[in-house]
Order: sequence, then C-alpha cells, then structure tokens
Amino acid sequence: MTETPQANQLAFSDLGLSPKVLSTIEKMGYETPSPIQAETIPHLVAGRDVVGLAQTGTGKTAAFALPALTHMAADHEAGDLGFLPNTLVLAPTRELAIQVAEAFSSYAAQLSGISVLPIYGGAPYGPQLQGLRRGANVIVGTPGRVIDHMSKGSLDLSEVKHLILDEADEMLRMGFAEEVDKILAQTPDTKQVALFSATMPKAIRRISEDYLNDPIEVSVKNKTTTSANTRQRYVFIKHHAKPEALVRILETEPHEAAIVFVRTRSATEEVAHKLTARGFRATAINGDIPQNLREKTVESLKDGRIDLLVATDVAARGLDVDRISHVFNYDIPLDTESYVHRIGRTGRAGRSGEAILFVTPRERRMLRSIEKATRQTVEQMNLPTVADVNASRLDRFSERITQTLATEDLEDYRDLVTSYVNEHNTPAEDVAAALVAVVHDGRPLLLDEKAEDDLARAASQSFEREDRGASRDRGPRDAGARAPRQKGSPSVAGPGNAMYKIAVGRQAGVAPGHIVGAIANEAGLSAREIGSIDIRPTHSLVELPETLTKDQWAALSKTRIGGELIRLERDSGSHGASSGGKRFDTGKKRSGFDTDRPAKKAAKKPRWRDR
Ligand code: AMP
Repeated sequence: MTETPQANQLAFSDLGLSPKVLSTIEKMGYETPSPIQAETIPHLVAGRDVVGLAQTGTGKTAAFALPALTHMAADHEAGDLGFLPNTLVLAPTRELAIQVAEAFSSYAAQLSGISVLPIYGGAPYGPQLQGLRRGANVIVGTPGRVIDHMSKGSLDLSEVKHLILDEADEMLRMGFAEEVDKILAQTPDTKQVALFSATMPKAIRRISEDYLNDPIEVSVKNKTTTSANTRQRYVFIKHHAKPEALVRILETEPHEAAIVFVRTRSATEEVAHKLTARGFRATAINGDIPQNLREKTVESLKDGRIDLLVATDVAARGLDVDRISHVFNYDIPLDTESYVHRIGRTGRAGRSGEAILFVTPRERRMLRSIEKATRQTVEQMNLPTVADVNASRLDRFSERITQTLATEDLEDYRDLVTSYVNEHNTPAEDVAAALVAVVHDGRPLLLDEKAEDDLARAASQSFEREDRGASRDRGPRDAGARAPRQKGSPSVAGPGNAMYKIAVGRQAGVAPGHIVGAIANEAGLSAREIGSIDIRPTHSLVELPETLTKDQWAALSKTRIGGELIRLERDSGSHGASSGGKRFDTGKKRSGFDTDRPAKKAAKKPRWRDR
C-alpha cells in the first residue's frame, strides 16, 4: 500500500490532468482534490493500474473519470480517438450507472465530441442499441447488460483502453462475479484497469491478482483525533431541504458565531446569499477570494460584525476564532480527516463547541466512517419543529421588548402612542400590535404550521431509510435479510405478491444475492418488491409482485444467473413444502424499505467462483 502523506496538499493542477479537464473542474467549483483523487489520479494519468479503497462520497468518480478523460483528450487531439468505446465503467446497479454516466458527462463538458452512454438492465434494449450504434466513447454499464450486448454483438469492446470497476465489492456481492470475470477476460490485455471498492475481500484481491498489471494500491488513511470539548450531532436531511434546516437550527440554537462548510465555491456564495436573505449576517469565503479580503472577513467574524462564515475547506484552513460556537457540516466532507479539521474550528480556547453534520440518505456510510475515525459517536438530532422555531422567535421578540424598555428613553414615543390612542379612540394593545406589524415590514413574525410538513418529510424519509438500512447492516438473522427459514416451511406469498419459479437452484450454486441482483437489475424492481426466496436443489421460488409488466416479463425471460436462463414462471404450488429447500426471508417486504438498489447485503456469504 502506498500512502502519500502530502497528497492532501496537492492542487488539481499538480496531478497531470489536461487543461480542459482542469478548467472544467475549476468551473464546477472544486477547490482541492479529495484524498482518493490526489492519491490515484497521478498514477492513473501515468497509465498504471490502480486498486483504490474508497466508498461513495469520497470523490472516486472524478478519481477515475478525470485521468481517462485526460487520455481521451490527448487521443482526440492526435486524431486517435476511434469510434468504438474507449472507456468502460462497470457499476453494480443501474442507479449508480446513471449517476456515474452523468458525472462523467459533466467532467467531459469541455471536451467536444466525447459522449457517454449508460447501459443497464431493466430498461428496453431499443434506445441502448441506438446509442451504441451512434457510438459512445464511454460506456457505463451494469455487468449483466454489458454481457448481453457483448453477446448480441451490439457492444464491441475490442478497443477499450480503460476499464473501471466501480464498487467492485458490491458487484460481487450482487452475484456478478462471473460477468465481471468474463468482461475482464474478453477485453484487450493492454487496457488500463482501475478497481474501486469499499472493502477488500478475498474475491476482489483475486480479481486484482488475475487481471490487474502490477497495480498501485491506495487507501485513504483515517486519522483519529478526538475533540473532547465539542459535541457532535447529525441530522438526516434531503439535499433540497438543507437551507431551511440550517435556518431552523440557527433560529433555535443559541450561538455566537458559526462556520458553515460547503463543498464548492459556488455553494459558498449560494448559501451565504440565502442566509443573508433570511436576516443573518453571513459572508462567503472561498479560494477565489483574495487573501487580504479573506483576512478582513475573518476580522469581521472576530469582532462580531458578521456571525456566519460560509466556507470551503481551503478557505477555512487554520482559522482560529474563539467566538465560533458552531461548525455546520452543511455538505459532508469527502474524507474523515477534513471532518476532523472542520470541527476543530470550534471548541477553541477551552470553550465548548457544537458540530452539526447534515447527512443525506446516500451519505450514511460516510457518517459511520466519521464515527470510526473519530472514535466517537455522533448523536442524532431532530430538526427543530415549527413550534420550536416560533417559541424561540417569541422569546427573542419579548426579550427585545424587555431590553428596550430597560435601556431606551421612551418618553417621546409614549406621548406619541397616548395621543394616537386618544385621537382614534383605539386600545393601546391594538396600537402596539400594529407597531409589531410595522416592525416586521409585512413579514409574519411566526412560521406557518404548514411549513412543518415539507421539512419533516425531507427529514423523516431519511430517518425511515436509516432505521431500515441500519438493520440491513447486521447479520442476516436479525437483519431480516434473507435468513434461512426452517426446512420445509411452505412458500406462501404475502398480499399483493405471488410466488414465481426460476429454473436455477442450489445445484447451480445459486445464492439469494444472485437472485436479488439479477431480478432487481434486469426487471428494475426495487429490493422491497422482492420477498422471500426459497432455494431448492434444481429450482428456486421467489416472491415477487403479483403483476409484472410486459417489459419486466420480457427482461426476465432473458435474465441469466450463472449463465443459465432463469425461465421465470408463475409457481403452480405443486412442489411440496419439504423438498429440501432453503428458504430466505428478507423482511424487506414488511418493512417496505425503499431503495432502488437491489438488496446489497442480501447474501451475507456470497458464493462466487473460487479459483
Ligand atoms: P463521489 O464519491 O464520486 O460520488 O463524489 C461525491 C460528491 O463530491 C459528488 O457530489 C461530487 O460532485 C463531489 N466532489 C467530488 N470531488 C470533489 C472535489 N474535489 N471537491 C468538491 N466536491 C467534489
């Protein structure tokens, strides 16, 4: 393993990327490479094979896309960029395939003529075939569908120069080992291979040994630091609801000054603007702002002319202001070390500090990594409700009145009110109420109860996911993941479901993960739609929705597991209850866990080919 200690200090311009790629990421507002980018990009640009231990949320997509695009830009300039696919990315699910394809396209924005095509199971072949006929330089696909197109002759990978395995451990867990092997074996020996995986099980090491050429292995070291003075909390929140969530917390948490950390330059401006519009004294600082101006901003924060600084990591490096009572990780950092740096901005000079982290549903794993790296539990916090916000607004309002009464000379104003009351024969309470409205300039003092619904929804959906997701991370039995049932228990479908038979069973080495992976990917079913699985010697019974669409039937009629067509059919129920089957039950049907990804942890001990 190589560990590059200075990698964190590298700039994007130090990594050997092409000028157009550099200018694109500059425009996207990325300031510095994340650790996985700093450590892998130079090797990938130099043509080395790389094994990168990194999970989603660390910036790994750019880590493999930017070098491939740099090579493609050079080929394009030399007139060597052919019609056939140059880069193939394999991803475990169609959601990831789409996401990676979108990211790849945005990184290629300034490279004219480079096209990216996602191909995945569960979608009709027509548009994909058209796309392939038109030609694409980058294909991002799920292994099953890639194999399908290869065998149909619609995907020619003979000129592939870069092959990337994204979330490799996930692909194997989903039963794609054979497909991955086949694709690696049937693409040119000269290709560069980059393998990204969150974990390094034996099967991944085997792939690396078999198919990668003297790879550099990179893992991002998790520094462990604790900050005793700082309480750490997190909130689950959807991306779009973050501004409202931040404002609510700021309205209800007593704070002196705060830093709000975001990921890009443009986000610093956007968020600062939103906060200013809501009456907070906020300023953006980022790497684009000249040093002397940044220093002035920090001075303003120190002396209380502003209270909130919206910053990127670079801009806030080394910031030392005692007043900072809160650090908001508005965007979760790309690595745990940045988290530690960020929260180190509070709890200074012996004071206590508060660190609040916003976590979107996709970022749950990063939260766990942060807990591991800091060796501290980050407490979950609930978002303040409309009632909390209103109570705090009323408190502040009455405090302002009390303070004004105590400190201001009100003699002239009192005369003014008295003469109004006498002249108009209006009660003093009404006059006071009208003055409150004047002070608020037409804006209501209190939040409307209806506002509750939107934000609560944005947070609670994520909570539900977490609750269910967390149980998925435990062992198969208590996870409700497909835990073996007693031999001979009958396979009965729940309401709205039916039992289906597929023509692959234990003798073909099938595990539940293979079945879930294949069916979910090919038919586009979500994990919650796949119920119990009953693996028998020569066939298996699977609980699926009672009604499948025509497209789903069509997709499943072509689906293979371990090379065998699954021949899906409705189960007639004539198999007997005790034919030596092993029954697995997800529990997902009951919990209604709604993920578009096929059940990741379904097969706790996946069986792929041992070599
Ligand atoms: P990924 O792990 O590739 O899914 O990336 C996670 C998120 O970080 C995506 O929203 C990227 O756009 C963003 N991102 C990736 N690299 C950087 C960077 N160097 N600076 C800021 N944001 C980044």
